Amino acid sequence: MPERDISVYANADVVVAGGGPAGVGAALAAARNGASVLLIEQRGYLGGMATVSQVPAFCPYTDHIKPVIRGIGLEILSDMKRRMEAAFQEEWREELDWVPIDAEALKRLLDEKMAEAGVKLLYHTFVGHVLQQDGVLEAAIIHNKTGTQAVKAKLFIDATSDADLTYLAGGELVKGGDDGELQPGTMCFVLHNLDRNKFLSVADIHGRDLKHAIHKAKSEGRLRVARDWAGISWLNDHTAGFNFGHVFGIDGSNADDLTRGAIEGRALVEHITEWLRESIPGFENAFLSLTGEQIGIRETRRIVGDYILTADDFLKCRSFPDDIARNAYFIDIHMAKPESGMTMVHLPPGESHGIPYRSLLPAGIKNVIVAGRAISTDRATQGSTRVMPNCFAMGEAAGTAAAILAEQGSRDTRSIDIEALQRKLVRQGAWLGEAIQERWKEDD
Ligand SMILES: Cc1cc2nc3c(=O)[nH]c(=O)nc-3n(C[C@H](O)[C@H](O)[C@H](O)COP(=O)(O)OP(=O)(O)OC[C@H]3O[C@@H](n4cnc5c(N)ncnc54)[C@H](O)[C@@H]3O)c2cc1C
Repeated sequence: MPERDISVYANADVVVAGGGPAGVGAALAAARNGASVLLIEQRGYLGGMATVSQVPAFCPYTDHIKPVIRGIGLEILSDMKRRMEAAFQEEWREELDWVPIDAEALKRLLDEKMAEAGVKLLYHTFVGHVLQQDGVLEAAIIHNKTGTQAVKAKLFIDATSDADLTYLAGGELVKGGDDGELQPGTMCFVLHNLDRNKFLSVADIHGRDLKHAIHKAKSEGRLRVARDWAGISWLNDHTAGFNFGHVFGIDGSNADDLTRGAIEGRALVEHITEWLRESIPGFENAFLSLTGEQIGIRETRRIVGDYILTADDFLKCRSFPDDIARNAYFIDIHMAKPESGMTMVHLPPGESHGIPYRSLLPAGIKNVIVAGRAISTDRATQGSTRVMPNCFAMGEAAGTAAAILAEQGSRDTRSIDIEALQRKLVRQGAWLGEAIQERWKEDD
């Protein structure tokens, strides 16, 4: 490529790349803590997988006894519910687990939250390159309709879910399992014109998750899906979002694979919708209104950070001195091949493990904090930490840390006073486990 001069689009305290749950949590937390924040997102809206790929429900916020994810994540869940129609609010008012997502309500809500917090948004913009010196990111290079420009910041938050910033900076990464296996993608979709009451009246026969109906149809050669399960999230009595079917062998950090995922994913949705119309009472008149803009991606790169969170930490419900969030979601690894099985490991009710700040710090890079799906874990633990409520919490911690550092004029993420960060997080409403909570619950 020929060398050329480019202009500087912005110079902020904190630049957040990616506007999924992690990026949203990070940008709001950083701005609310006084930092100037620019959030860069390649789509024209926020929400990540929930809005880009129509993932239809938030995973549990609780450990089955109490909410584990609080703070910004809980605020967004509650505010989204308040925007929904009365019947939805009535049904889901007290519920914190598996709440269906209204993608349009979420998009508007997040636009408004960013405006209230003073976050500068730049949509339709892709981070495609970085400039660095001695492990310090000086600028992210952005591409959009305006052209190619530089964005400078004291601190960067990599919330791209594929660890794009870390990858572009030459950081150490791993991807999938030992043999390169990756969880499959799913093209989620929305159906209108359904009759929920009719469906529920025969749900015992088919299974609320269609388990029995799918099993029977597969054995008769009428349905081509790998797993006997459909995630159905009802938005009202006539509309539901579906997390149903897998597309295998898709690496979401590869554009050819994403293209194949889009094409194969839409073809599979068409096939599934036809089967639903023919076979499931209440779905006879189903109208396919929407598929994801991009196939939903569960797994790509993970950073190698200062600490790699392991399945042993998960199983032993370990806490760490530098915990910045807690996770109670189960290990949920979808099969890499159609013939393989799912891997699911649950913690007992009331139990959770800590997520240490060190797992957000890419080795060898000084001023980048990674939040969301790509943090430093082993493969099994990524199958658990990856879900949206956790990503909000990790984002909130990353953004709060970046604001503290920016205020101090530090570009070294490892120079943070962990106790000061934990104290701020607790005071903001995050939950970091009984011990830390007890310590910081009141002003000293
Ligand atoms: C099919 C499927 C079903 C799932 N089911 C559930 C579920 O039921 N409940 C649940 O809670 N979780 C579920 N998950 C997991 C969850 O949706 C994701 O793991 C989570 O959204 C990750 O959050 P994130 O903020 O790290 O990244 P994402 O949500 O992936 O957001 C990343 C954002 O960054 C943007 N971006 C990426 N790269 C760049 C770049 N270089 N420049 C600019 N912008 C960029 C993207 O456009 C995107 O908006 C599911 C995932 C899939 C795929």
